[in-house]
Amino acid sequence: MSNAHSSSAHPSPEGASPEGASPEGASPEGATPEAIGASSTDTPERTAPGNSALSTSAPGTKARRPLLSTHHPLADVGTTIFAEMGALATAHGAINLGQGAPDADGPIEMIEAAAAALRSGPNQYAPATGIPELRQAIAHHQRHYYDLEVDPDAGVLVTVGCTEGIAASVLGICAPGDEVIVLEPSYDSYGAVAALAGARLVPVTLRPPKWRLDGDALEAAVTDRTRALLINSPHNPTGRVLDDEERNAIAKVAIDADLVVITDEVYEHLCFDGHRHVPLATMPGMFERTITLSSAGKTFALTGWKVGWASGPPELIKAVRRTQQFLTYTSPGALQRGVVAGLAMGEAPIDAVRAGLDQQRGLLLDVLAGVGFDVTPPEAGYFITADASWTGVADGRDFCLRLPEAVGVGAIPLGAFYVDPDRGGAMVRFAFCKQPDQIAEAGRRLSALTQGPLRSSS
Ligand code: PMP
Ligand code: GLN
Repeated sequence: MSNAHSSSAHPSPEGASPEGASPEGASPEGATPEAIGASSTDTPERTAPGNSALSTSAPGTKARRPLLSTHHPLADVGTTIFAEMGALATAHGAINLGQGAPDADGPIEMIEAAAAALRSGPNQYAPATGIPELRQAIAHHQRHYYDLEVDPDAGVLVTVGCTEGIAASVLGICAPGDEVIVLEPSYDSYGAVAALAGARLVPVTLRPPKWRLDGDALEAAVTDRTRALLINSPHNPTGRVLDDEERNAIAKVAIDADLVVITDEVYEHLCFDGHRHVPLATMPGMFERTITLSSAGKTFALTGWKVGWASGPPELIKAVRRTQQFLTYTSPGALQRGVVAGLAMGEAPIDAVRAGLDQQRGLLLDVLAGVGFDVTPPEAGYFITADASWTGVADGRDFCLRLPEAVGVGAIPLGAFYVDPDRGGAMVRFAFCKQPDQIAEAGRRLSALTQGPLRSSS
């Protein structure tokens, strides 16, 4: 593949050797030898090759150092794939099935509560760990759904979305040189924050069509430097929900190797077809080593609010908090009040969000199958993954770059979720968190793919 994939937020390690051109072609061990992140032995900036030209500047001209370090852990990272493909969709008037953002807002009661809080004030800093009412509501949520007891004061921290929870957890737990194991494909921010922490992201690869975790591969990925497992279930982008066997394998590895487990559970309530999300923190021996992350964004279809939370044992939450207090200090109080209102409404609004998504999932599955994609129903979440190679394009990124202009639909290449984007092959992701008329219109547009508009030069 010729593309540089400059927008992948999984920073590429210098000298990483690509292995296998597709998920199916990845190494059988699952764990990949190349891992990413900054190295403490990085060459000092002044010796970077790019600077040598500066020293040959005209006599009398002072050699200047570049403003931006070429050794910054994110030096090779452009905009995220979601922003890049979103902009492309907008530019071409495409229906954006790329970014996982619903096109209809969640409960009006929550919006009213947040608006009322804005009007009544105070519009000043909320407490650093989150307003007490929200921390209590989160503790109640964990007890109600999972029988988990968390201390609303020392065991819950409100964050700016799950994104900040991930960053504060990885930065709070990992020291330079540590390794963080993730299930690959993995959400783009994992690689970026691991790199910022100076930690190395070690992927354990899941393969289509079942995307199951191989417990032996997970065990083989652990080294003396492994600090944490960063596990996402229900999983973006595959829609998998870890089953008992996979969760047992994770718990065994974590306990045997004394690892911290950071779990990203933002899709916790969006499981379909009887699949059930069981937090890793509920398993024997796991609570004391697990930081559980979630967010109101997906649960209530209010992704723009960016109210998330971390819960777990006080010792670990303290470590997340010491970082989070320097990232944002606190999140907007009025939106926290809106989430309190949502959690106070019980299961009904959450069930309604899930039911709507289930219907949209069915519609998009029909649309994609009708067009010619080979699709498997996702067990949870917002997304359907599919191989686009039948359209004549071998690379998912190439497909997604051309799709908005060619047919007027946006999508996301799975390569963006891999340390080596080539591993994504021709796999792409479509979001179904869209209104039925939008999905139907996307179907009409996508049906043009059967005419082979992408078969020409790529
Ligand atoms: N983790 C995963 C797996 C996601 O898909 C997303 C996107 N919602 C996030 C974290 C970020 O969540 P938030 O919008 O609450 O920051
Ligand atoms: N979680 C969303 C997705 O996977 C994207 C959020 C973002 O744009 N960073 O589509």
